[in-house]
Amino acid sequence: MSRFVDRVVINAAAGNGGNGCASVHREKFKPLGGPDGGNGGRGGDVVLVVDGNVHTLLDFHFRPNARAGNGKFGKGSHQDGAVGEDLELRVPDGTVVLGEDGEVIADLVGEGTRLIAAQGGRGGLGNASLASRARKAPGFALLGEPGETRSLVLELKSVADAGLVGFPSAGKSSLIAVMSAARPKIADYPFTTLVPNLGVVTAGEIVYTVADVPGLIPGASEGRGLGLDFLRHIERCAVLVHVVDCATFEPGRDPVSDVDALELELARYTPSLGTKLEDRPRIVVLNKIDVPDARELAEMVTAEFESRGLKVFPVSTATREGLRELSYALAAEVEAYRAAQPKQEATRIVLRPRAVDEQDFTVVEDPERPGGFIVRGERPERWVRQTNFDNNEAIGYLADRLNRLGVEVTIARMGAVPGCPVTIGDMTFDWEPSTPAGVAAMGPTSGRGTDTRLEPNDRIGASERKHAKRVRRGLVEVEDFGDEETTNDKG
Ligand code: GDP
Ligand code: MG
Repeated sequence: MSRFVDRVVINAAAGNGGNGCASVHREKFKPLGGPDGGNGGRGGDVVLVVDGNVHTLLDFHFRPNARAGNGKFGKGSHQDGAVGEDLELRVPDGTVVLGEDGEVIADLVGEGTRLIAAQGGRGGLGNASLASRARKAPGFALLGEPGETRSLVLELKSVADAGLVGFPSAGKSSLIAVMSAARPKIADYPFTTLVPNLGVVTAGEIVYTVADVPGLIPGASEGRGLGLDFLRHIERCAVLVHVVDCATFEPGRDPVSDVDALELELARYTPSLGTKLEDRPRIVVLNKIDVPDARELAEMVTAEFESRGLKVFPVSTATREGLRELSYALAAEVEAYRAAQPKQEATRIVLRPRAVDEQDFTVVEDPERPGGFIVRGERPERWVRQTNFDNNEAIGYLADRLNRLGVEVTIARMGAVPGCPVTIGDMTFDWEPSTPAGVAAMGPTSGRGTDTRLEPNDRIGASERKHAKRVRRGLVEVEDFGDEETTNDKG
């Protein structure tokens, strides 16, 4: 019984990176100073962290949407924007994380194991950071990148902490219904015909699961009914609970003989895990004491059970009498059992290891736009996201970056003609090859910014064209423009 899969879909939204700031230093009675726009802060991550005190995915059933903080915008006077706050989601040990298509992304084992479920967007560089010898006073800044959003499935293959055994109609299902705060949906239960009743109980600080063992009847250990299947899992429960009906009278049956009959089945079963069922603590629940005769009977048999060293709880699922005491007693047993389990070491899990060669990009013919091309690659796509297309200078900077990476050369080699549509990420451009060497720039390359303090446009263009040529000839390494942003990291 009771090996079930607790399953929940969460929506993790990381924080957006803040925009960089474009600003020029000003002081009274002094000429305009240099660029002093700060960088935008990085967006917060949504992180899953294994916490040994969390045992169910219950919280996520109630709160499936998780959002980390946004990074703040950079400001003038070199003020960098604050980093967005990470959001840590505490998950139980053994939580399996699956992607939307059902592929396993990670198996979170060991206290403290961390997984970045959604990565915060990078902050955009401010114009102070973008300044270089060739571009002394950039009149633009980079945009922050949007944080990642992902839907993830969390699954916890679990064994109920408390297993309820008892004859049919003893009140097992009723007990679960009245004790539990929630009834998580169960997936992948191995017995399709007979789904166990499962509930999550909260008693003070402790949260635990309770499930019934519907197949346990006399003869179960010989394979009668579904008994064996359920017995196979019962040995992993922290505590077994005998639920006894004190209100129904049948010849030859009474609370003590009912418990004896089921104990006989438990004793006959040979456990597969090596832990004997006898070692598992038991609790006796005498149910239906709202019925006067039942209360009387319960009082009569209590001494007998207690003389066997069993804890006895008279309850009524109808009036809820005795339930609080029961739920705390079960919590204590569960806690003791958990404390006795061996702990596993934390591991660090990298969700998507970075590509070894980040410079890679690919160009393919666009199936939807005849004569057009699609450029794919982490960096070109990121650069497009960082670009403020209202600012010509920012567009020029993008063109330069793409140039240096060799994107234009490749497109030209593939036979692009002026005006053909080139798509990178969400944006489609009209291709404008503008240099004699065929090293074409994307988008407008003239009028980069309106700041009169800039060097003449043609000079910038010339120096960078020269650079691009040298890149093509393999004379210089492609400069790693793309990772400038990582300098703008946390802390
Ligand atoms: P299960 O077969 O062990 O799951 O038993 P159920 O929870 O389905 O209960 C069997 C019957 O007993 C139902 O008709 C319940 O209404 C009844 N029952 C359960 N608990 C109580 C109780 O505390 N008092 C009374 N009077 N009836 C109860
Ligand atoms: Mg039932």
